Amino acid sequence: MALHTDQNQRFNINMTKNLTYNAHCVLCPRLAEHLQNVRTIYPDYHGLPVASFGATKPELLIVGLAPGMHGANATGRPFTGDHAGILLYKALHKYGFSNQEEAIDPKDGLKLNNCRITNAVKCLPPENKPIGSEISTCNRYLRNEIDGLGEKFVILTLGGIAHKAVLMALSLKNKDYKFGHAALHKLDDKKWLLNSYHCSRYNTQTRRLTEPMFFKILDKAHEIIDSTYC
Ligand code: URA
Repeated sequence: MALHTDQNQRFNINMTKNLTYNAHCVLCPRLAEHLQNVRTIYPDYHGLPVASFGATKPELLIVGLAPGMHGANATGRPFTGDHAGILLYKALHKYGFSNQEEAIDPKDGLKLNNCRITNAVKCLPPENKPIGSEISTCNRYLRNEIDGLGEKFVILTLGGIAHKAVLMALSLKNKDYKFGHAALHKLDDKKWLLNSYHCSRYNTQTRRLTEPMFFKILDKAHEIIDSTYC
């Protein structure tokens, strides 16, 4: 614990003014310890908080849950090397939000157009499950990410936890914005919140989320951005 406090003071982490990410963040003791262990076991892995990826001031911001052990946590780029990234990047390419559908490692030449990807929690959580306090602590980065968007945007949340994290960042109440697959919530005339089931291996293998279902979500995001919705 003392180590974490010292590190936080050293890197001035409690004053995360406008930061959307801090590579040295150790505000969550459980996650910091977990990453320290993971770095020992996998010294070649990124093994640190994972920064957002994509355009600055995008009209589409995608919010996932947290880095996967052998994917984003290994490569250092959201959904890169993760099973969940296969469908996500395929759909982004299909709807013109990227230059290619492969996302293998940060040097693969992938570029996002008018789109940015972040996670509700920037560090790899044990068993892929962040706890409530970690979601709340990491929310400062998500809030700054959303604050940095322009005057019109769509936020696409992958899964219920990402949706709740976005509501927390916007100081909105869960009861007024219920999560549901394909639910579209109006924030104001030019700002929308779109929900999807997470494109995780579990959801795709059980067919809770199919490729056509996910393509429809990206189609909707594209339609909103291109039309008078925004
Ligand atoms: N990889 C990420 O970066 N985020 C997720 O939500 C899942 C896998």
